[in-house]
Amino acid sequence: MKTVSINHCTYPVVETFHSVQGEGFWTGSNAFFLRLGGCDVYCPWCDQKESWNAHRYPQQSLRELVEMAKGANPAMVVITGGEPLMHNLDPLTKELKNQGLRVHLETSGAHPFTGVFDWVTFSPKTYKMPDPSIYARVNELKIVVAHPEDLDWASMQESKLSEGVIKYLQPEWNTAESKELVFNYVLRHPQWRLSLQTHKFLGVR
Ligand code: SF4
Repeated sequence: MKTVSINHCTYPVVETFHSVQGEGFWTGSNAFFLRLGGCDVYCPWCDQKESWNAHRYPQQSLRELVEMAKGANPAMVVITGGEPLMHNLDPLTKELKNQGLRVHLETSGAHPFTGVFDWVTFSPKTYKMPDPSIYARVNELKIVVAHPEDLDWASMQESKLSEGVIKYLQPEWNTAESKELVFNYVLRHPQWRLSLQTHKFLGVR
């Protein structure tokens, strides 16, 4: 991979915002989000379809992004997308950490792993297979469940990860039967937990 000088490094940014983490293990925590543009996974139920085309978004400098994140004084910076691993995250994450910030990643794992993180949330999708480089980096597995076959996918992905990885099933927001599917599955499989999209209940980003 090409080395990029920090002074010349830019990323396509869909949005930045300061909120609480709405999903998974860190639900409710103070978090500054960097949503990067670009995704080639194309989940049909994606709630961030506008992020797919990275060329729609302005390139912002690494320096500017780090300044914004630092200024928010968050408990953590969450790099999300889109699919953030479409970009080389080494320079951005190293600089965020140099500034003393805790750095989290939300990814489908569909591209080779880059970056230095304190926490990695892996949300693999059947629409584009994960790159094998992700599996040793995962802290939290989060499977979005829309249909019963997604539970088979969850089980297959679980088998590739170490026992210490925390496992969540998250009902797909707009699929009526998804909540019942997840609820019943968690009762039968105690190693799994239920994740709800708290920010959507609150009506915030
Ligand atoms: S991986 Fe994420 S951003 Fe990409 S299509 Fe799927 S849900 Fe949307």
